[in-house]
Amino acid sequence: MKIHEYQAKEILRRFGVAVPRGYLATTPLEAEGAAQQLGGGICVVKAQIQAGGRGKAGGVKLARSPEEAHQHAALMLGSVLRTAQTGPEGQEVRKVYVEEGCRIARELYLGITLDRERGRVAVMASSEGGVDIEDVARNHPERILREAVDPLTGLTPYQARRLAFGLELVGESVDAFVRFATALHRAYAATDASLAEINPLVLTVTGEVLALDAKMTFDDNALARNPEIAAMRDPAEEDPREADAKDHDLAYIALDGDIGCMVNGAGLAMATMDVIRLAGGAPANFLDVGGGADEEKVEAAFKLLLADPHVKAVLVNIFGGIMKCDVIANGIVAAAKQVGLGIPLVVRLQGTNVELGKEILAASDVLAIPADDLGDAARKAVAAARAA
Ligand code: ADP
Ligand code: MG
Repeated sequence: MKIHEYQAKEILRRFGVAVPRGYLATTPLEAEGAAQQLGGGICVVKAQIQAGGRGKAGGVKLARSPEEAHQHAALMLGSVLRTAQTGPEGQEVRKVYVEEGCRIARELYLGITLDRERGRVAVMASSEGGVDIEDVARNHPERILREAVDPLTGLTPYQARRLAFGLELVGESVDAFVRFATALHRAYAATDASLAEINPLVLTVTGEVLALDAKMTFDDNALARNPEIAAMRDPAEEDPREADAKDHDLAYIALDGDIGCMVNGAGLAMATMDVIRLAGGAPANFLDVGGGADEEKVEAAFKLLLADPHVKAVLVNIFGGIMKCDVIANGIVAAAKQVGLGIPLVVRLQGTNVELGKEILAASDVLAIPADDLGDAARKAVAAARAA
């Protein structure tokens, strides 16, 4: 799960990570008030969307007075921001964060994530922080310093010092960086984060080390034990289909292919995706309706698939065990009746009540292409999507 910059900064502050003062605003007047609260001097108005690249897209603006903060907020709020990370459809700005302006001497980078290859948490730092860290990682990987964290000790002070020296920090900034990095790691570990990224981490003209930007992502499977973080979820920022699926308790992940899949059981869903690939096609989603879905849930799942404009054919692959094939068939028929089925549908049913399920489909207006086994179903779905 992703959160906004202002929420990440709130968490980091709690763990003793140095962040500038700032206030959230949802109206231009609130933004002006926030700027006044900050002393009325130079401040920065920052669009709160869950994507980076805001600076280059006009989502981070310097204001010299509270009136100017009001003007920037008025332009940003309600507008759609398109950055390198939002995709062409962009993201609507619903909130802005007004933060004190900071006099930057150097922009650095500090990030923590899981290195799956090494099975360790990795702390990465670079003296080339700011807006183009992705380019640095691609073209000059040697300019990114790394420390692997031992889970028993956490990030040790000597590892943090080694990074500080690598960044060519000197004097009191070294200690400030060590405090910063160890606190950031504590925050990462304690909140079951999967990413904590500070870009830029700045060295101010007075030698302070501060997080000017903050991005945190959390492991969804750990949200149950972090209710405060789960409460930070912002459905307005999520893929509307994935949010809809969550509301119906369906395991759904949007992918970029054109064959919509409806399957029961995560293992079968993965196998189905593999077989589609093997047949030369590409799945539009992962969708597991679960073991004990009722007609209503099947109907919701089927509508979800049809609502995706990229889907050119649908493949239903059900192995009826606890799930009964007639329930699936009734759900499909009900959904098709409501939204109309404008694309080819390939159905492979097997298991409990399979004959009844096939009869229900045959007796309905739904034009389903029957398939005998998984390979046959995938080939038919790929052919149907190609022909569409
Ligand atoms: P994004 O990564 O989405 O572009 P950032 O928060 O990193 O957004 O801001 C982009 C740039 O704006 C930073 O690299 C920094 O130079 C500047 N900036 C951001 N916040 C402040 C601030 N509080 N004071 C001064 N400059 C800032
Ligand atoms: Mg940034």
